Amino acid sequence: MHDVIVIGAGFAGCAAAREVRRAGKTPLIIEARDRIGGRTWTADWDGRIYERGGNFFHWFQPHAWTEIMAAGCTPMVLPTPVRASRLVGGEVHAADVDEHDAIIESAWAKYNADSWRILPLPHDPLSPLNDITRLDGMTIAERIAELDLTPDEHGVLMGECEGLASGYADDAGALSVLRWHALCGHNLLSTQQASGGDIAIAEGTIGFLQPILDEAACDVALETPIAAIEQDGDRVVVTTRSGEAIVGRTAVVTIPLNVLGDIAFEPGFSEAKQAGIAQGHAGIGSKAMFKVRGLDETVVALAEDHPFGWFTTLFDDGDEQTLVAFGRDGADVRDDLEWAQRELGRVFPEATVVELSYHDWKADEFAQGTWAIHRPGWYANHHAAMQEPEGRVILASADIADGWAGFVDGALESGKRGGRWAAAQD
Ligand SMILES: Cc1cc2nc3c(=O)[nH]c(=O)nc-3n(C[C@H](O)[C@H](O)[C@H](O)COP(=O)(O)OP(=O)(O)OC[C@H]3O[C@@H](n4cnc5c(N)ncnc54)[C@H](O)[C@@H]3O)c2cc1C
Repeated sequence: MHDVIVIGAGFAGCAAAREVRRAGKTPLIIEARDRIGGRTWTADWDGRIYERGGNFFHWFQPHAWTEIMAAGCTPMVLPTPVRASRLVGGEVHAADVDEHDAIIESAWAKYNADSWRILPLPHDPLSPLNDITRLDGMTIAERIAELDLTPDEHGVLMGECEGLASGYADDAGALSVLRWHALCGHNLLSTQQASGGDIAIAEGTIGFLQPILDEAACDVALETPIAAIEQDGDRVVVTTRSGEAIVGRTAVVTIPLNVLGDIAFEPGFSEAKQAGIAQGHAGIGSKAMFKVRGLDETVVALAEDHPFGWFTTLFDDGDEQTLVAFGRDGADVRDDLEWAQRELGRVFPEATVVELSYHDWKADEFAQGTWAIHRPGWYANHHAAMQEPEGRVILASADIADGWAGFVDGALESGKRGGRWAAAQD
């Protein structure tokens, strides 16, 4: 019998397994895919490392930055945009970056007004010192609708929020935006740096995931999707899709929130936890990479009512640039250069798309979404229940983290908590 069975070999699962090992017990990781990393995926595109999932990091992310430094990885600062574009009311406007920044900064300040008062302790969202009830009950669209914005501010804020949320503004909760702002020292620039397009890791995310797994020193059963977890007295029985039963004393389940409903838990979870699983999260968006020609300067763009709310230059190779773009719905993206040209042309009319790379995380059965952005009512109704162990099973993942929920940092935070709890059980 294994001491602790960890389901999932993303950052949460590997961090949980390492905690188990550090406590002197033996973990086993069971993973559905043929690789570790989960929603991070260091890949190769024409000889260059690029990330199909999680990509950008910041020293404001305490768990992630500690691992990056401990692994001896090299943070890279990506190109600073020189020129900006905004698509507002169906019309494209070119601008210099200062003008562009002034519009988004003004809109962002209105959205996040009083963030110090509302969320003084963003790493502890349920602290009584926080005053989150009103924003927790609203969507991003409802929050934006109550602000006094110019049409330009409205358009760029929609693009920024839907890009950051990886979901629809009328589905995703308003509080997450303020939470990122608070976690980043109540500052827009740091929020943009932390969440997209600024600081990446030269060795790739695998560069600081692999050392965590190495320290866990455990077996990883790849290509082994699980179907059920049954608690039976002082043990848990994990049944794989192929019918194999694997027995352990406790289980740490790091499966993404939007996938948990596919697993049969016996006995079933508490009503509160089941309600949280049924609500899921609203991060169903896209991240796509475009190789383009015809842009003579590095760029950034925010776009309203567009498959991608936010674009920025990732690599600048002179006559060719690679842009990364974030959108609100993975189903909007087509693996079709003509489509890509048309949509990119609405934002950068002079650009020619030569290649497109995209992974559909929404359709990916082991993710069913990108990063977690919670729907209204999450903190009031579900957050605490999701972290509560039940019997010999605990959930852990970025999607239910306290601080950087939805990010690698949150995966590490939650995975460590889950691993420590599991290792402490008899
Ligand atoms: C496109 C994209 C861009 C992102 N950008 C950033 C970023 O820039 N910075 C950042 O910090 N974060 C970013 N994120 C979010 C970040 O990648 C995730 O929040 C984090 O990696 C999640 O880690 P996790 O371990 O909680 O979950 P996962 O990484 O999803 O790991 C869960 C594991 O469980 C496995 N699993 C699922 N079902 C089963 C099953 N039935 N049986 C066995 N195993 C199963 C999965 O295959 C997976 O490996 C991004 C995510 C995406 C998709």
